[in-house]
Amino acid sequence: MRNTKPLGLAAMAAAAALTLTACGGGEEQAGGGETGGSGESVRIGIKYDQPGLGFRDGDEYTGFDVDVATYVANELGYSEDQIEWVESPSANRENMLANDQVDMIFATYSITDERDQTVDFAGPYFVAGQDLLVRAEDNSIQGPADLEGKNLCSVTGSTSAQRVKEDQPGANLVEQPGYADCLTALESGQVDAVTTDDIILAGLAATDANQGKFKVVGNTFSEERYGVGLPQGSDQCEAVNEAITKMIDEGAWEEAVTANTEGADYSFNEELNPPEMEPCGE
Ligand code: GLU
Repeated sequence: MRNTKPLGLAAMAAAAALTLTACGGGEEQAGGGETGGSGESVRIGIKYDQPGLGFRDGDEYTGFDVDVATYVANELGYSEDQIEWVESPSANRENMLANDQVDMIFATYSITDERDQTVDFAGPYFVAGQDLLVRAEDNSIQGPADLEGKNLCSVTGSTSAQRVKEDQPGANLVEQPGYADCLTALESGQVDAVTTDDIILAGLAATDANQGKFKVVGNTFSEERYGVGLPQGSDQCEAVNEAITKMIDEGAWEEAVTANTEGADYSFNEELNPPEMEPCGE
C-alpha cells in the first residue's frame, strides 16, 4: 500500500533534484516539501517498532501516528505515495529535524519546554500518560512509588526515562534504544518493569507474540502531549494545526484511534482527548 521500492527511488530522485535546486539558489525548497504538494516528497519521521502507533512491516507502515501523518500530509498537498517514511528513534528526533533529515516528525513525540528550545511543535494531536508495564503475574508494582530497588527499563532520550531518573532515583534504570528492546528484558527477568506512555505499552503488550505475558499497571503519572515536530522556524505549524483540527472535526481522528487500539487493552483519556491545538510560535 505504501512505500514500494520504485517509490523509494522516485523519492531519491526527487531529493537529488532538490539538492540541485538548492545549489541554484532555490533555498526554500531545500527542506524537501512545501505546502501545496509540488510533486516532491515529504520526509516524515515515525517510530518503526511501536505497534499501533508507528510500525514498519516490510513496505507497510501502520499505526495512529502514521494515520495522523498521512492525513496531515494529504491536507498539505502530498499524496500517500509522496510520503517518505523515515525511522526516528526517541533519542534522534531533535537532531533529525535540526540536520534536515526529516521535514516533520509524528513519533509519540511529547511537547516539552526543553525540546521547544531546538524544534517547533504543532498539535498536540493526542494526550497519553506515562505508565508501567510488568509481567502478567507480578502484583508487587502498582505505581511509581513501588519502583524502589527494582530494575526498570526505558528508552534513551525519552521523557519517560528522564522523569523516572528525576522522581524515582531509587529505581535501577536501564536504558535501551527502543521500547521493544525493553520488553525483551522484561520477559527474561532482567528488569521488573518498563515505563513509557500507556498507549505505547498497551500496543506492545497486545501483539500476538506478547499475548498474556504482560500487563499495563493503569496508574498514569504524567501528561504526554504528542506534538508534530517541525524544524525550528518552520512556517508549517498553522497548516498542520488546521489539518489536525479538520481530522478531529470530521471524525477521522476518533476512527484512527479506535482502529489502531483495537485488540489492545486501552481506552484513551476522554477528559484530555481529543486535545485543543496550542497556538503556534509560543
Ligand atoms: N512521549 C514520550 C517522549 O516523547 C515517550 C515516548 C517516546 O519515547 O517516543 O519522549
